[in-house]
Amino acid sequence: MTCTVCHRDLYADELGHQACRPCTDRVDLNLRALAGADGLYARLSDSLHPGSSSGGPAVSGSRTAPLPLRLAPLSLAARGGIVTILQTWLVDWHDLLGYRHPRWDGDLQQQCDQAVKRLRVLLPWAAERHGAFDEFAGEVSSLRRQAESATGGERGPRWFGVTCTCSATLKITIESPGKHCDACGAQYDRQALFDLHLAERRAA
Ligand SMILES: [Zn+2]
Ligand SMILES: [Zn+2]
Repeated sequence: MTCTVCHRDLYADELGHQACRPCTDRVDLNLRALAGADGLYARLSDSLHPGSSSGGPAVSGSRTAPLPLRLAPLSLAARGGIVTILQTWLVDWHDLLGYRHPRWDGDLQQQCDQAVKRLRVLLPWAAERHGAFDEFAGEVSSLRRQAESATGGERGPRWFGVTCTCSATLKITIESPGKHCDACGAQYDRQALFDLHLAERRAA
C-alpha cells in the first residue's frame, strides 16, 4: 500500500488511507497559505489594482493604461478562480459524506476563508477516504504556486490562455509584448492581446 500522492509506502496505521501524514500536512499548509487577511488570496486582490489600495471591483480601466487589469491575478481572484475551485471540492466532499450543501456567505475573501476552514476540518477524512485525494492535493498545491507567482512570487510570470477570434487558445504571460496565432495567422499587439477573452480553464 502506497500513498497516492507521493507513492511512498504507508505506515501500518495508515494502511488503506489515500495519503500519508506528511502529504496530508503539506495540503493543510497549502490551504492555510491561501486563506486569511495576509494570505495569498488577499494579496491577489491587492495586486489586482496596483497603485490602488481600495481594491474595488473596477473591471474596465482606462484605455490609456498599458493594461486595464492584471489578468493573472484576476483569473485566480475572480469567481471561477481559487474560491470556486475550493468550493467545488467542498461540495463534492459534502455530497460524499451525505452532508447538506455548504452555504456561501459574504464576499469572495470571506468565502475563501470559509471554504479553507471547512476543507481543513474534513481533511483527515479526505486523506483517509477520498478516492481523488491526490487530485485535490495537486490542485491545491498548483493554486498556491499560481497565486505566489501572480503576486510576485519568485517563480516568474504565470502562463495563461486567451482565445483568438478563430477560437484557438494563445498561451501568454502578463508580460507578453504581443502574439502571433499559428492557427489563423492573426497578429496581436499587446493591447489587442489583452482585449481577448480568457480561455476556459481546463476541466478538472
Ligand atoms: Zn504521501
Ligand atoms: Zn487564431
